[in-house]
Amino acid sequence: MDLISPSHIATGPAVTSTVITMTPSASVPTGSGPAISGGTVTDRLVEANGQYAAAFTDPGMDARPVLRVAVVACMDARLDLHAALGLNLGDCHTIRNAGGVVTDDVIRSLTISQRALGTSSVVLIHHTGCGLETLTEEFRHDLEMEVGQRPAWAVEAFRDVEQDVRQSMQRVRTSPFLLHTDDVRGFVFDVKTGLLRETDPA
Ligand SMILES: [Zn+2]
Repeated sequence: MDLISPSHIATGPAVTSTVITMTPSASVPTGSGPAISGGTVTDRLVEANGQYAAAFTDPGMDARPVLRVAVVACMDARLDLHAALGLNLGDCHTIRNAGGVVTDDVIRSLTISQRALGTSSVVLIHHTGCGLETLTEEFRHDLEMEVGQRPAWAVEAFRDVEQDVRQSMQRVRTSPFLLHTDDVRGFVFDVKTGLLRETDPA
């Protein structure tokens, strides 16, 4: 199918006249990362959104996740939750943070997910090679030394990923705020193979 009609080509401006010049202020500073054609990384995201929206059609969905599941996972850039779990738009809630740790704020999200939006299953996903395995609670101490204030939050660093999954499962199962705590399963995602390994809760 022709997207450009012959008459448009015949009457349109010459290609050489459409060169766009970028202002220096909108450019990514040299050496700050991979080359991005004009603008900051956020500009690039906004541009991509324009293309996404152009092809987007309202799926007419309810906010309640179709599969009634909430997935709590690490924010790691190598973990594409939807692709790795065969999830589609509208299927689940995804709650992510550094480590995929079950913090009070994750419990807050799970509570809203279950009580206001109808989910009843919880899947916890940590992964191999997590950045939190290289940190200790010293991170907080160092922060305090640097900025003169101790963060209220724990770093939640860990050495044994399986043990941390078990602890996360335990935190979900024992939360008094959740309606559903029977279907809680935990996994470690292998960033080299893409495979999930289930963690024995015992
Ligand atoms: Zn991680």
